[in-house]
Amino acid sequence: MRISKVEIFRASMPMKVPFKIAIGITTTSQSLFLRVHTDSGLAGVGEANLFTPVVGETQETALVAAAIIAKDLIGTDPTDIEGRVAQMRRRLPNNVTTRSAFDMALWDILGKAANLPLFALLGGRRRPIVTDNTCGLETPAVMAERAAEFKRRGFQAVKVKLGTDLPTDMARMRAIRAAVGPEFALRVDANQGWSRVVAKQALAALVEFGPQLVEQPLVRWDIDGLALLKAQSQLPIMADEALFDEHDALRLLAADACDYFNIKLAKSSGIHVALKINAIGEAAGIPCMVGCMTESGIGIAAAVHLASARENIVFADLDGADMLGIDPVQGGFSYSAAGEILPATTPGLGVEIDPAYLRSLAVETVE
Ligand code: MG
Repeated sequence: MRISKVEIFRASMPMKVPFKIAIGITTTSQSLFLRVHTDSGLAGVGEANLFTPVVGETQETALVAAAIIAKDLIGTDPTDIEGRVAQMRRRLPNNVTTRSAFDMALWDILGKAANLPLFALLGGRRRPIVTDNTCGLETPAVMAERAAEFKRRGFQAVKVKLGTDLPTDMARMRAIRAAVGPEFALRVDANQGWSRVVAKQALAALVEFGPQLVEQPLVRWDIDGLALLKAQSQLPIMADEALFDEHDALRLLAADACDYFNIKLAKSSGIHVALKINAIGEAAGIPCMVGCMTESGIGIAAAVHLASARENIVFADLDGADMLGIDPVQGGFSYSAAGEILPATTPGLGVEIDPAYLRSLAVETVE
């Protein structure tokens, strides 16, 4: 089987409400959708969702990068994912989100060729994944209202975005805890927003609100600072923006800088490297979360299959598609009333993009 053609679509999807975090705001979710065709007639789909403040790619740069990679991959074997990932990594080492879309499409093709859903292709089982939903940065009252709404909808955990000034952040936590009750699972994500001094104070002050974990309190390069915080903190610390690939995972472990890893396909360049990060975490006693940016159902489906297939992935933050005003993708996974997600049982990712929506998008074809 050989790759014969790649279609690159620009998909800009409105958010239900603007999503604000400490390092940026998303009003329109910016993706590329890929369709990778083969000479066997099988085609795979992938998505690159570009969150620039974390990955440094934009929809425009990703379009250029995707065309470069597509040209390289024409005529190559899509089932040799090891080979294709190495080839893409050598060519564009920093374009992780663009590469993740190709990685997803290759796994989709392999699943379709094997007639297996991706979770089974990865050697895992189909298990329900509990996912949180996320409150972006707003006033304490608005965040409390949204957290209560997620609880009413059946979600079992809420991720709370913080990372601004300490009094406002603590007012947010106080309001949210009051709105959801003392037992409800809360997770905090500061998105690199705190200095070392503020983070130390925040971690101590957060104890009374009982969050399960605190994600990325410090700027991503401050691994030493993260290690100092972990040594002092009663609350578990999760690395997110500090963790892109398997090399970062080893660096974080060597510094004893975190309790948990947050894997995102948009950072790891896809499933191939995500599996390496999870294996490193598992070997070191570090359970993982699979998170997301604001992907449509394509990127979320890939993440759900991965999470389902690996027992060391114990947390999921896979609410991206739920935050979109429109999601033009069907299948891949289903939500249950209890805030749980299950991967689809159809081959590969199991997703279908609405053909009318695809026709409405600007497309670049490489063959
Ligand atoms: Mg995070």
